[in-house]
Amino acid sequence: MVSVDQALCSGCGLCMELCPEVFGWGAEGRATVLKQESETCNLEEISDQCPTEAINV
Ligand code: SF4
Repeated sequence: MVSVDQALCSGCGLCMELCPEVFGWGAEGRATVLKQESETCNLEEISDQCPTEAINV
């Protein structure tokens, strides 16, 4: 299950840029998960790129 730890997300916007299908802007300028899967994005790779390690896949 994909999730964004709201306590860790800095709101940098990288995940939304890399995969707008799955990540969107949520409350207080942080990322939120819009859907649990994607055929076009590598979610594990995006998780690895998150600067605050806020994305769990
Ligand atoms: S890449 Fe990480 S820190 Fe940046 S918006 Fe997404 S979840 Fe938040």
